[in-house]
Amino acid sequence: MPEGPEIRRAADEVAAAIQGKIATRVTFGLDHLKPMEKLLSGHKVVAVETHGKAMLTRFEHGQNIYSHNQLYGRWYTAPTGQRPDISRQLRLSIETADRWALLYSASDIAVLPDAALAEHPFLSTLGPDVLDSSVTVETIEARLSSPRYRNRRLGNFLTEQRFVAGLGNYLRCEILFCSGLAANIRPADLDGAQRHQLAENILALPRQSYRTGGITNTLDAARKLLDAGATFEQARFHVFRRAGKPCYRCGNTIEKITSGGQACYWCPGCQQTG
Ligand SMILES: [Zn+2]
Repeated sequence: MPEGPEIRRAADEVAAAIQGKIATRVTFGLDHLKPMEKLLSGHKVVAVETHGKAMLTRFEHGQNIYSHNQLYGRWYTAPTGQRPDISRQLRLSIETADRWALLYSASDIAVLPDAALAEHPFLSTLGPDVLDSSVTVETIEARLSSPRYRNRRLGNFLTEQRFVAGLGNYLRCEILFCSGLAANIRPADLDGAQRHQLAENILALPRQSYRTGGITNTLDAARKLLDAGATFEQARFHVFRRAGKPCYRCGNTIEKITSGGQACYWCPGCQQTG
């Protein structure tokens, strides 16, 4: 599933194509949304926001298209009229005079007026967004220490969108590795310095991934691996999807376990267990 950084990059591409322009025609590939086409067509797109893994396309007259890509949703942008050569279901198109944005395969799409955003079942429960530059390390530390989370295992709640918005499984594994902590540790097990470092990584890794197109490995290490002939997928992570391979930091073998219902990759040599 795409995580916060991937959705933010898709939103940047959609914004470059349609933001600040009149959406001359909006069409939906879902029957229940067809009546909304008239409501949106002919109005200017004023912003393309992300809220965790959800995207909000905002129109000048106070209407919004909410979309969540889930597992399969995929945005494309192109000169208006040009379609990518794929066999997916087109679910939404936002057309402007020169370019359009197309959303394929997603089914979690809604049209909402501004006044309804605060009540939306997903948006209204989101924690602080890790890609929102106004969110601070102190905010994350306070959440980790709060009664709601301090006695829960990190592996079980880091990807809960009500804890913080935007983390998925690769970020969870990489944050735990960079913090030197196994998935079964609880915030209550940490001293102040460890909690601070964990909070820093919860913000720093998604932000680096956003800037670099998906690299959570240290940038020096990734560059050396790429120079030595590694593929991008091989170079981008410390531990994610590297089970059976040696840890770049300590040489121990990376292991794969199940934590919080998902595969969790970790290094027994680098990460302290609870
Ligand atoms: Zn290691």
